[in-house]
Amino acid sequence: MKKFVLMFAVVVLFAGSQAYAEQEATSAAPAVVAAEGTGEEKVDVGNLICPVGGEEISKMGNGTGYAVEHNGKIYHLCCEMCLKDFQADPEKYTKIAEEEVAKREAEAQGVAE
Ligand SMILES: [Zn+2]
Repeated sequence: MKKFVLMFAVVVLFAGSQAYAEQEATSAAPAVVAAEGTGEEKVDVGNLICPVGGEEISKMGNGTGYAVEHNGKIYHLCCEMCLKDFQADPEKYTKIAEEEVAKREAEAQGVAE
């Protein structure tokens, strides 16, 4: 139950940061999408490490990174440079991001048991 509350807090934080990112992104990078305002449900993968640069997103730039959509999912990158690499080979980098999230979830379960 405690974990659920924590998850909810993270989602709220993401929603707030993406609204902020949307304002910045409109002029800089049209490929960056925000989860809000589209009328569609998008799945936030929630990766904390940039699949391109390998940097922790929370430590880069404004702390929210770049959000990019691929196949209806939101992935997080650390900076605009990585966005270009991501778009050049999205299949490769979405896989890296999802493996990172899966590994983190597996570790979290291991600690709880
Ligand atoms: Zn980067």
